[in-house]
Amino acid sequence: MSKKENPNIHKTTSPPNMKLVKEFRDPETKEVGFKFIDYWISEDKTLFQTHLHYDQLYTWRMGELSPYALGLLDGKLMGTKCPKCGDVFFPPRVNCWNLNCKLMKTEWVELAQTGRVHTYTVAGWSGRSSLKRLPFVLAYVVLDGVTTAIANEIREIKPWDAEFDMPVKVKWVPKEQRIGAITDFYFVPADRWEPSPMNAEKERIKKLCEPVYEWVKTLK
Ligand SMILES: [Zn+2]
Repeated sequence: MSKKENPNIHKTTSPPNMKLVKEFRDPETKEVGFKFIDYWISEDKTLFQTHLHYDQLYTWRMGELSPYALGLLDGKLMGTKCPKCGDVFFPPRVNCWNLNCKLMKTEWVELAQTGRVHTYTVAGWSGRSSLKRLPFVLAYVVLDGVTTAIANEIREIKPWDAEFDMPVKVKWVPKEQRIGAITDFYFVPADRWEPSPMNAEKERIKKLCEPVYEWVKTLK
Protein backbone atom coordinates (compact mmCIF):
# COMPACT_ATOMS: atom_id res chain seq x y z
CA MET A 1 0.00 0.00 0.00
CA SER A 2 1.35 3.39 -0.92
CA LYS A 3 0.86 6.43 1.24
CA LYS A 4 -1.50 8.84 -0.46
CA GLU A 5 -1.62 12.49 0.49
CA ASN A 6 -5.03 14.04 1.02
CA PRO A 7 -5.19 16.85 -1.58
CA ASN A 8 -7.72 18.72 0.57
CA ILE A 9 -5.24 19.34 3.35
CA HIS A 10 -3.37 22.54 2.68
CA LYS A 11 0.24 22.77 3.80
CA THR A 12 1.71 26.06 4.95
CA THR A 13 4.99 26.54 3.13
CA SER A 14 6.39 29.52 5.04
CA PRO A 15 5.74 30.87 8.54
CA PRO A 16 3.42 33.88 8.66
CA ASN A 17 4.91 37.29 9.30
CA MET A 18 2.46 38.64 11.86
CA LYS A 19 2.51 42.35 12.74
CA LEU A 20 0.54 43.95 15.55
CA VAL A 21 -2.02 46.24 13.90
CA LYS A 22 -4.18 47.33 16.79
CA GLU A 23 -3.96 46.85 20.54
CA PHE A 24 -6.98 47.54 22.74
CA ARG A 25 -5.97 45.88 25.96
CA ASP A 26 -7.70 47.26 29.03
CA PRO A 27 -4.95 48.62 31.34
CA GLU A 28 -6.61 46.69 34.18
CA THR A 29 -5.86 43.39 32.46
CA LYS A 30 -3.29 41.42 34.40
CA GLU A 31 -2.46 37.89 33.42
CA VAL A 32 -1.92 35.89 36.56
CA GLY A 33 -2.66 32.47 35.07
CA PHE A 34 -4.28 30.02 37.46
CA LYS A 35 -4.04 30.98 41.11
CA PHE A 36 -5.62 29.43 44.14
CA ILE A 37 -6.63 32.40 46.27
CA ASP A 38 -8.25 30.86 49.38
CA TYR A 39 -9.85 27.80 50.90
CA TRP A 40 -12.98 27.27 52.96
CA ILE A 41 -14.00 24.49 55.36
CA SER A 42 -17.51 23.83 56.64
CA GLU A 43 -18.22 24.31 60.35
CA ASP A 44 -18.42 20.57 60.92
CA LYS A 45 -15.08 20.16 59.09
CA THR A 46 -16.42 17.70 56.51
CA LEU A 47 -16.51 19.87 53.35
CA PHE A 48 -13.78 21.75 51.55
CA GLN A 49 -13.89 24.35 48.81
CA THR A 50 -11.40 26.65 47.17
CA HIS A 51 -11.42 29.52 44.70
CA LEU A 52 -9.31 29.26 41.60
CA HIS A 53 -8.73 32.64 39.96
CA TYR A 54 -8.25 32.42 36.26
CA ASP A 55 -6.78 35.15 34.08
CA GLN A 56 -4.87 33.89 31.12
CA LEU A 57 -3.74 35.30 27.79
CA TYR A 58 -4.72 33.21 24.78
CA THR A 59 -3.31 33.34 21.28
CA TRP A 60 -6.09 32.61 18.80
CA ARG A 61 -4.65 32.17 15.32
CA MET A 62 -7.40 32.01 12.75
CA GLY A 63 -5.20 30.32 10.18
CA GLU A 64 -7.20 29.38 7.10
CA LEU A 65 -10.30 30.94 8.64
CA SER A 66 -8.62 34.39 8.70
CA PRO A 67 -10.75 35.79 5.82
CA TYR A 68 -13.69 35.60 8.24
CA ALA A 69 -12.03 37.95 10.77
CA LEU A 70 -10.53 40.21 8.09
CA GLY A 71 -13.99 40.47 6.53
CA LEU A 72 -15.51 41.61 9.82
CA LEU A 73 -13.00 44.48 10.04
CA ASP A 74 -14.17 45.46 6.58
CA GLY A 75 -17.91 45.17 7.22
CA LYS A 76 -18.23 41.98 5.16
CA LEU A 77 -19.61 38.61 6.19
CA MET A 78 -17.36 35.95 4.69
CA GLY A 79 -18.58 32.37 4.68
CA THR A 80 -17.46 29.26 2.87
CA LYS A 81 -19.14 27.14 0.23
CA CYS A 82 -18.53 23.51 -0.70
CA PRO A 83 -17.95 23.32 -4.47
CA LYS A 84 -19.27 19.75 -4.49
CA CYS A 85 -22.58 19.82 -2.61
CA GLY A 86 -23.13 23.59 -2.49
CA ASP A 87 -23.64 23.86 1.28
CA VAL A 88 -22.71 27.32 2.58
CA PHE A 89 -21.27 27.71 6.05
CA PHE A 90 -21.41 30.65 8.43
CA PRO A 91 -19.57 30.46 10.75
CA PRO A 92 -17.17 29.28 8.04
CA ARG A 93 -15.75 25.76 7.81
CA VAL A 94 -12.50 24.97 6.01
CA ASN A 95 -13.76 21.53 4.95
CA CYS A 96 -17.26 20.36 4.05
CA TRP A 97 -19.18 18.51 6.73
CA ASN A 98 -21.01 16.14 4.40
CA LEU A 99 -19.53 12.65 4.54
CA ASN A 100 -20.02 12.20 0.78
CA CYS A 101 -17.80 15.23 0.13
CA LYS A 102 -14.81 13.57 1.84
CA LEU A 103 -13.52 16.72 3.55
CA MET A 104 -13.80 18.74 0.33
CA LYS A 105 -12.01 22.06 0.74
CA THR A 106 -14.51 24.94 0.73
CA GLU A 107 -14.30 28.27 -1.11
CA TRP A 108 -14.79 31.75 0.32
CA VAL A 109 -17.99 33.62 -0.55
CA GLU A 110 -19.33 36.98 0.59
CA LEU A 111 -22.74 36.57 2.20
CA ALA A 112 -25.96 38.55 2.27
CA GLN A 113 -26.43 40.68 5.39
CA THR A 114 -30.02 39.60 5.84
CA GLY A 115 -31.52 36.41 7.21
CA ARG A 116 -34.15 34.80 9.39
CA VAL A 117 -34.31 33.80 13.03
CA HIS A 118 -34.04 30.04 13.42
CA THR A 119 -34.39 30.11 17.19
CA TYR A 120 -33.81 32.54 20.04
CA THR A 121 -33.86 33.04 23.77
CA VAL A 122 -34.33 36.03 26.04
CA ALA A 123 -31.33 36.28 28.35
CA GLY A 124 -32.12 37.29 31.92
CA TRP A 125 -28.57 36.68 33.09
CA SER A 126 -25.17 37.02 31.44
CA GLY A 127 -21.44 37.40 31.85
CA ARG A 128 -20.26 40.49 33.70
CA SER A 129 -19.55 42.53 30.58
CA SER A 130 -23.18 42.37 29.39
CA LEU A 131 -25.09 42.64 32.69
CA LYS A 132 -26.12 46.27 32.17
CA ARG A 133 -27.75 45.46 28.84
CA LEU A 134 -30.05 42.76 30.27
CA PRO A 135 -32.53 41.52 29.27
CA PHE A 136 -31.48 40.91 25.66
CA VAL A 137 -32.28 38.54 22.83
CA LEU A 138 -29.80 35.90 21.68
CA ALA A 139 -30.62 34.20 18.42
CA TYR A 140 -29.45 31.66 15.92
CA VAL A 141 -29.88 33.29 12.53
CA VAL A 142 -29.70 31.64 9.12
CA LEU A 143 -28.41 34.24 6.66
CA ASP A 144 -30.01 34.25 3.21
CA GLY A 145 -28.34 31.62 1.05
CA VAL A 146 -26.55 29.95 3.98
CA THR A 147 -27.02 26.35 5.21
CA THR A 148 -26.00 26.79 8.85
CA ALA A 149 -26.97 29.20 11.63
CA ILE A 150 -24.86 31.79 13.44
CA ALA A 151 -25.40 32.90 17.04
CA ASN A 152 -25.53 36.60 17.80
CA GLU A 153 -27.65 39.19 19.55
CA ILE A 154 -30.78 40.86 18.19
CA ARG A 155 -30.89 44.47 19.32
CA GLU A 156 -33.33 47.35 18.78
CA ILE A 157 -36.24 45.11 19.72
CA LYS A 158 -38.33 44.62 22.84
CA PRO A 159 -37.35 41.12 24.03
CA TRP A 160 -40.97 39.90 24.06
CA ASP A 161 -41.41 40.95 20.42
CA ALA A 162 -38.81 38.47 19.09
CA GLU A 163 -40.30 35.72 16.92
CA PHE A 164 -39.20 32.52 15.23
CA ASP A 165 -38.57 33.10 11.52
CA MET A 166 -38.60 36.88 11.83
CA PRO A 167 -36.49 38.65 9.18
CA VAL A 168 -33.37 40.39 10.46
CA LYS A 169 -30.51 42.38 9.02
CA VAL A 170 -26.92 42.95 10.07
CA LYS A 171 -25.85 46.15 11.79
CA TRP A 172 -22.15 46.93 12.30
CA VAL A 173 -20.42 48.61 15.19
CA PRO A 174 -18.46 51.69 13.98
CA LYS A 175 -15.43 50.67 11.92
CA GLU A 176 -12.89 52.09 14.38
CA GLN A 177 -14.36 49.93 17.16
CA ARG A 178 -14.21 46.63 15.28
CA ILE A 179 -11.83 43.95 16.49
CA GLY A 180 -12.33 41.10 14.02
CA ALA A 181 -14.69 39.21 16.34
CA ILE A 182 -18.36 38.23 16.24
CA THR A 183 -19.18 41.27 18.41
CA ASP A 184 -18.31 43.53 15.44
CA PHE A 185 -21.91 43.12 14.34
CA TYR A 186 -25.34 42.26 15.66
CA PHE A 187 -28.78 41.70 14.21
CA VAL A 188 -31.72 44.10 14.17
CA PRO A 189 -35.23 43.57 12.82
CA ALA A 190 -35.40 43.90 9.03
CA ASP A 191 -36.86 47.05 7.47
CA ARG A 192 -40.63 47.01 7.40
CA TRP A 193 -40.86 44.27 10.04
CA GLU A 194 -43.59 44.98 12.55
CA PRO A 195 -44.00 43.16 15.86
CA SER A 196 -47.15 41.08 16.15
CA PRO A 197 -49.86 42.27 18.58
CA MET A 198 -49.45 41.43 22.27
CA ASN A 199 -50.69 38.01 23.28
CA ALA A 200 -50.61 35.85 26.39
CA GLU A 201 -47.13 34.46 25.69
CA LYS A 202 -45.66 37.89 24.98
CA GLU A 203 -47.25 39.22 28.18
CA ARG A 204 -45.63 36.34 30.06
CA ILE A 205 -42.17 37.18 28.69
CA LYS A 206 -42.71 40.88 29.38
CA LYS A 207 -43.57 40.10 33.00
CA LEU A 208 -40.42 38.01 33.34
CA CYS A 209 -38.36 40.92 31.99
CA GLU A 210 -39.73 43.53 34.41
CA PRO A 211 -37.68 42.52 37.48
CA VAL A 212 -34.58 42.27 35.28
CA TYR A 213 -35.00 45.90 34.14
CA GLU A 214 -35.46 46.92 37.78
CA TRP A 215 -32.35 45.02 38.86
CA VAL A 216 -30.24 46.54 36.08
CA LYS A 217 -31.19 50.02 37.33
CA THR A 218 -29.47 49.19 40.63
CA LEU A 219 -26.14 48.48 38.90
CA LYS A 220 -23.47 51.17 39.12
ZN1 LIG B 1 -19.96 19.33 0.39
